[in-house]
Amino acid sequence: MGHVKGLKCRECGREYAVDPIYVCEFCFGPLEVAYDYASIAASISREKIVQRPENLWRYRELLPIDGEPQVGLNSGYTPLIKADNLAKAIGIDELYIKDDTVVHPTLSFKDRVVAVALTKAKEFNFDTVACASTGNLAHSVSAHGARAGFNRFIFIPATLEASKIVASLVYEPNLIAVDGNYDEVNRLCSEVANKYRWAFVNINIRPFYAEGSKTIGFEIAEQLGWQAPDNIVVPCASGSLLTKVWKALKEFKEIGILKELNTKIYGSQATGCNPISAAVKAGTDVIRPVKPNTIAKSLAIGNPADGFYASQVIRETGGHAEDVSDQEIIDAIKLLAKTEGIFAETAGGVTLAATRKLIESGRIKREGRTVICITGNGLKTQEALQGHTTMPHHIKPSLSSFEEVLEKINGN
Ligand SMILES: *Cc1c(COP(=O)(O)O)cnc(C)c1O
Repeated sequence: MGHVKGLKCRECGREYAVDPIYVCEFCFGPLEVAYDYASIAASISREKIVQRPENLWRYRELLPIDGEPQVGLNSGYTPLIKADNLAKAIGIDELYIKDDTVVHPTLSFKDRVVAVALTKAKEFNFDTVACASTGNLAHSVSAHGARAGFNRFIFIPATLEASKIVASLVYEPNLIAVDGNYDEVNRLCSEVANKYRWAFVNINIRPFYAEGSKTIGFEIAEQLGWQAPDNIVVPCASGSLLTKVWKALKEFKEIGILKELNTKIYGSQATGCNPISAAVKAGTDVIRPVKPNTIAKSLAIGNPADGFYASQVIRETGGHAEDVSDQEIIDAIKLLAKTEGIFAETAGGVTLAATRKLIESGRIKREGRTVICITGNGLKTQEALQGHTTMPHHIKPSLSSFEEVLEKINGN
């Protein structure tokens, strides 16, 4: 049923059968899913896609499963919003928001990757799923894994936002809070994954998991009337999402669904964790690991697994990268809310603030069509705004008390 040829090493090209493996035994390069594009082109079309339910599985021929989708049937196909108010505020002609703050059951784009990873874990007959998470993955694996009937082991840095910890715990997974940053959690998880036969969605299932990110790219093209935009700005943690947005557009071109492709891909990070944007700005592919210190915790990966490939995509497409301070993140979250009525988490603030800088520096032209990926909902990181919003007007339960305040409001 599926169109997967196998797994292929991104470095040496060696091919492997479809298994829960992720590194090349010969050169230690990462493995990636390889497809038979001729057979995909023969079995998928724009007409076929538009008749399917509005979820991420409408592009199923380009996703690495063999049977029927089993997880995430309500995830994906999020809105693409023409953001005229925001466009005006930041001085650009045509701006769209790919709004992954809504639709997904756990309110971030991670439901896309988890839908694919857990469907694949079922196909591999795993009974336990696990992950190393910066927050949103914990939430998503906890939720989708509960419904799909998996045992779940979720590893997080102990310093995660309290709201994200509660949002995961409610589904009663085994939540392991590690005294260390994400990179330390990830290293521990690699050891655990070697020892226990579990489906670690972002370790041994990573080649399949990562493919789920392509669905943002597919949706953007479909929602623009089967066209690729001039620019797409993507937030980067491991860098995987950025590489997969580009892979999606290239695949659509390859199978004839897109006629033209001239999109520039831009990366965005917090200055407190900017290994990818620092490399791009320095004109190198060499990723220098950093110790994260930022309110954008969902992006706080100091040693990004796909950083090298992300910087290559940025260079290959003629894009660029930027990073932004915590204050710029907060200001951008507030601007997005005020202009478009969208409450984004810190990662969304990163994307918008970086977009502003890229426009101001002329890297993104004011003419042309730009899409920014807003990947998570602000209700998940409300702590970040503590003390940074306006305050309520406090009154007595009387009309006169209200009118006193009303006078003040109207006065200024
Ligand atoms: C995980 C995550 C990303 C990006 O992840 P990559 O590791 O770069 O694929 C972006 N935004 C949010 C909100 C996330 O949780």
